[in-house]
Amino acid sequence: MLCIFGDEKLSGSLHLMDCMPNSSDKKTLKRTYKPKKLNLDPMDIKSNHAAPVLTDPVPITKSRLGIHSSLLPYSPGATFSSGMYITIPRRKVIPSKLDDIRSSGWLDAMKSSSPPRKKLTKDSNIEVAADDSQLVYRSWMLKYPSALASFEQIMNYAKGKRIALFLDYDGTLSPIVDDPERAFMSPAMRSAVKNVAACFPTAIISGRSRDKVYEFVGLTELYYAGSHGMDIMGPVRQSDTGDNHSNCIRSTDKQGKEVNLFQPASEFLPMIDEVFSSLVEFTKGIEGAKVENNKFCVSVHYRNVDEKNWTTVAHGVHGILKDYPRLRLTHGRKVLEVRPVIDWDKGKAVEFLLDSLGLSESDDVLPIYVGDDRTDEDAFKVLREKNRGYGILVSSVPKESNAFYSLKDPSEVMSFLKSLVRWKKSRI
Ligand SMILES: [Mg+2]
Repeated sequence: MLCIFGDEKLSGSLHLMDCMPNSSDKKTLKRTYKPKKLNLDPMDIKSNHAAPVLTDPVPITKSRLGIHSSLLPYSPGATFSSGMYITIPRRKVIPSKLDDIRSSGWLDAMKSSSPPRKKLTKDSNIEVAADDSQLVYRSWMLKYPSALASFEQIMNYAKGKRIALFLDYDGTLSPIVDDPERAFMSPAMRSAVKNVAACFPTAIISGRSRDKVYEFVGLTELYYAGSHGMDIMGPVRQSDTGDNHSNCIRSTDKQGKEVNLFQPASEFLPMIDEVFSSLVEFTKGIEGAKVENNKFCVSVHYRNVDEKNWTTVAHGVHGILKDYPRLRLTHGRKVLEVRPVIDWDKGKAVEFLLDSLGLSESDDVLPIYVGDDRTDEDAFKVLREKNRGYGILVSSVPKESNAFYSLKDPSEVMSFLKSLVRWKKSRI
C-alpha cells in the first residue's frame, strides 16, 4: 500500500442533492446525517419531484450527504436521533409558497455555481479588494500547492512508477468561453497533449459527448470518455474477454483499431433524446439559452441568458424533469446538467480505464488527474481515498477540493504537461 499521501483527511464539500425518496405515503423520511460536518454545497441538486426509485447513487454514509435545498429551511420539525439520523415529518405545503422557495433556491444555486469573472479595473478600492483576493488565494495554495512549484516533489514520487494521465477538457485544456461550441484548444495546447500522450497513457474525460470532445482535441493517440465517463472508448487488453463489465462491447475506432466501448447508461439514450427535444422546445422562448445534447446527458447553458430570466430557465427545466424521475439535475458553471441516475461518474471512469490499461492492480502506477469541474471531484476522491495518485484542481479561485495540488488556469496546465514530457525525456 502506498503511504506517500499521509493520513490527512479532507472534510470535503458535501453535495446538496435531492434526498426525497418517493411519493409513497410514508410518514417520515430518514437519511443518515452528520450534523457537524454539514457544509452545504448548492452545486449538485436534483429536481425535487417525487421519484419512484431511490435515486441517490452515492452511499449516504460517506461524504456525499444529500439533502434537498427546499427541505432545509422548511424542516422546523426535523429531529435528530442517535446523532446520525434526521427524521423529517411529512407535512402539507402550500404549492405557491413552495414554488417561491424553490425558485429562490434554484436561483441561489445558479448564482453560486456561476461566480462572475474577475474584471480588471483601475478603481483603487477594487485594487485593494484584488490584493485581498490574491492573499486569500495564496493562503489557499498552502493547502493545494501549485503542481508546477511542487513538480520535483511529484516526480520524486513518480520515480520507478508508470504515470497514467487523465485530463478534463473544458476549463482545463480549453478556456471557458461564452459559446460552448467554440471552446477550442490552442494549437500549442494540442501539441503539448500530443507530446505527453506519446510518453504516458493519456485519456480525456469530459462532460461533453465523446464525439464532440474528439472533434475538439483531434488526437488519435488518446483515450476518450465522454458524457462524464458514461461513454468510454478504451483499449482492448490482451487478456480481456470482454466479460468483465456488462454494457461493454468490442468496437473499432475511427482508425479501424479494435477498442472496447463501454456505455453503462445505454438504456437511457431514448429518454435523453426525448428530454433534449423538450428542452430545446422550451428554451426557444428564452434569449441566450442553449441546449447541448451530450449523448448520455444534456446541458442547458444559461451563460448568455439575462440574469432576470434565470428563474424561468430553472422553472422550465425542473418542470420538464418532473416526468423523468430517473434523471437528475446538477449545476455547473452557468450550466444545468441533466444526467441519468446511475452509479457511475468520472471516478468510476478512471478506475475502468486503469483496468482497461492493465494498470489497476499494480503498485507501480501513478495516476494523475487534472480537472476544474465539480464532476472531477469524483475522480480526485478515488485517487485520494485509495492513496493511488494525485488530483490536480485547475482553479483561479479558492475552493474546497479532493485534489492534492492546483494549477491556476489552462496555460499552467500546458506548462505542467510540458514539464512531464521534459522529465520523461530526461530519464531515457
Ligand atoms: Mg471542466
